[in-house]
Amino acid sequence: MTTLYELTRAELAASLEGEPRFRVEQLWRGLWREDRFPAEVTTLPRALRDRLSEAYPAALTPINEVVSDGGATTKWVFALSDGATIETVLMAYDDRVTVCVSSQAGCAMGCSFCATGQAGFTRQLTVSEVVEQVVVAARAGAPRRLSNVVFMGIGEPLANYDVTVGVLRRLHEERGMSARHLTVSTVGVAPAIERLAREGLPLTLAVSLHAANDETRNDLAPINRRYDRARLARACETWIDETGRRLSFEWALIDGVNDTDRALDELAAYASPFAAHVNLIPLNPTPGYLVRGSTPERVRVFRDGLIARGINATVRNTRGRSIDAACGQLAAVTRGKRGLRRDGSVTTVAVRAKPPSH
Ligand code: SAH
Ligand code: SF4
Repeated sequence: MTTLYELTRAELAASLEGEPRFRVEQLWRGLWREDRFPAEVTTLPRALRDRLSEAYPAALTPINEVVSDGGATTKWVFALSDGATIETVLMAYDDRVTVCVSSQAGCAMGCSFCATGQAGFTRQLTVSEVVEQVVVAARAGAPRRLSNVVFMGIGEPLANYDVTVGVLRRLHEERGMSARHLTVSTVGVAPAIERLAREGLPLTLAVSLHAANDETRNDLAPINRRYDRARLARACETWIDETGRRLSFEWALIDGVNDTDRALDELAAYASPFAAHVNLIPLNPTPGYLVRGSTPERVRVFRDGLIARGINATVRNTRGRSIDAACGQLAAVTRGKRGLRRDGSVTTVAVRAKPPSH
């Protein structure tokens, strides 16, 4: 069944055949510029709203919503139509409101320290399943305007390439979001980075590096065995040449693994030719990875060491940690939070948000 945000404007126009032409514009505006579902586009006649709501249902059913950080962070668990589950996190800051979206149900990349990687892959998401995460978050964040979308939830966005690019284009062209405020985070699928560089979208790219020598990176992010550090560096070069955009490297600091003086030198040497920004993430705890994160003191020393070597580095705060909503902690699939009964029907666990009513 076609869900709402899967429709192109032409398809929508076709489904409104027989109606006055301005109806298409009214509905399109409602969906893409005002975050309204058809039932709420009150400029449309009632019967038409009802018909559209029935024909194009929501892709996501919220089954759990948890708020933390004094109301500034919200995490949803959504059930998809086939019962697979994903998670979405909304984070309000002083200067921006950001949603962190999932691009796949699960992830096949198998990074050892990541809860999603530990859980494995279920399936690809569709365009509407990703866009609707943005819309639900934007509605919850109102009246503040949702300014940023980051692909740092469940899944590897560049392993669901066409959907990711389709979503980015729609958010930019239809929803009117600045491409700079759309961030794709990738574990380093080198050929896909090169392809993305040629899409003509001046996005922000974050590469999850975590180690700048092949031996350690093979262990942390097995994709490195396919696209090693040299191959990844070529892709990063292409990114910068083609887009003129700055690059950032993500680095989850792990005690004794990638927070040593040697790791610091290797990272500085790797990042420096790209003038890359380094985002240090204190490792968030996950059930399947028993190595500890670096101590706060070591995190500071590591950051200062990078700065002393001329690298622009910041420490990402651990927003949402207490509700397992921080980077790498999202794994709705395995943690028994899916809220599904054995017969496949959905239980509503602590739902606070109203499900999107069409
Ligand atoms: N698959 C993409 C995007 C989702 S993961 C990627 O890997 O980039 C989003 C970010 O969380 C990545 O930078 C990832 O390396 C990081 N991450 C994963 N597990 C983590 C953990 N346990 N602690 C801190 N960061 C983690
Ligand atoms: Fe997948 Fe990213 Fe987690 Fe690696 S870190 S397993 S690529 S979600």
